[in-house]
Amino acid sequence: MADGAATAILVVAAGRGSRVGTELPKQWLAVAGVPLLAHTLATLADSDRPILVVIHPDDDDRYANCLDVLPPATREWLLPPVYGAATRQGSVRLGLERLAALPSPPELVLIHDGARPFATPALVERAIAAARQNGAAIPAVDVVDTIKTVDAAGRVLATPERATLRAVQTPQAFRLPLILAAHRAAEAAGAGALTDDAAVAEWAGHPVHVFLGEPRNMKVTTREDVTAAEARLMSECPDVRMGQGYDVHAFGPGDGVWLGGYKVPHEQGLLGHSDADVLSHAITDALYGALGDGDIGSHFPPSDPQWKGAASSIFLKAAVEAVRARGGMIAHIDATVVCEHPKVGPHRDAIRRSLAEQTGLALDRVAVKATTSERLGFTGRGEGIATLAVATVRLPVRR
Ligand code: MG
Repeated sequence: MADGAATAILVVAAGRGSRVGTELPKQWLAVAGVPLLAHTLATLADSDRPILVVIHPDDDDRYANCLDVLPPATREWLLPPVYGAATRQGSVRLGLERLAALPSPPELVLIHDGARPFATPALVERAIAAARQNGAAIPAVDVVDTIKTVDAAGRVLATPERATLRAVQTPQAFRLPLILAAHRAAEAAGAGALTDDAAVAEWAGHPVHVFLGEPRNMKVTTREDVTAAEARLMSECPDVRMGQGYDVHAFGPGDGVWLGGYKVPHEQGLLGHSDADVLSHAITDALYGALGDGDIGSHFPPSDPQWKGAASSIFLKAAVEAVRARGGMIAHIDATVVCEHPKVGPHRDAIRRSLAEQTGLALDRVAVKATTSERLGFTGRGEGIATLAVATVRLPVRR
């Protein structure tokens, strides 16, 4: 991108607020299985511009978890995060200061809410064009409701003419020196209650222009918004695939068997080139199967010495990453373990939690079942363990 260095995107995600009735600030809420902020960053990264995220100092772990679920192509655009302040305005100013201190600071900055996951690349391009032309520009959509001003008692004072009103969104776009100077001046003057960055620019005397926003560019604020955002994300991944996997490992000497990254104590182990996690292998194959992308053996050949004794979480996480790299999501995983012993039932929830953690899925999207084969066949004779798995993967229709 020719002007990739000329524009940066500043994402504000340092807030503590939640109107959805949870303690968790809204940017960290799980939406379709991953944090809301991850959706926002993945969408913005499609614009191929560097992204700086402002986070709360208490949220290092949440941010690290958020990075874990992002495809590498998204992570490439992320600058190291910066800590925010007690107010949104203070957080934006600290982010702008960081951008201005870069070896080659961007000419333009787009300031975006972490809780707006649907800003398209087309909107980002309009923001850049408008800021380049006007210095300060904000996306706006027509107001469909009639708006009233009211007093503290709830009495209507006035009805502003609707044609003159606009609902304003982010990204708000500015020449970096202009908006940084305005924020510094507002800070010095104690003007700390301005509700958006346009208001800071207005306060400093700069004309602010509007450009065409997007009705779909919603801010996720309430529980209803979370539901609506999930429905939209699902609708954007309409290509539903089911993959299946099957695996067998024979018993050998040992003190337990690895199942889904959890070690079940047993007087035997399983034989294999890696850690012989027969459950993780079947699930990994189910994911690759859903993608039509080979199998665990083609991605991690048993002939390759580097996988000797390897933890199978490496294979499983690679398959999960392959889904995310396609812009997709895992809807669910369901697996069955077939053996006479060890007894899997008592360990089922520990195994599910382990799998949920490795895949980034909610616990109710991971099922593990166990059965015997009524003493029939190799599993019935206690010679080994067989596993079956299915995974449902949703993919976008590629542009
Ligand atoms: Mg295997």
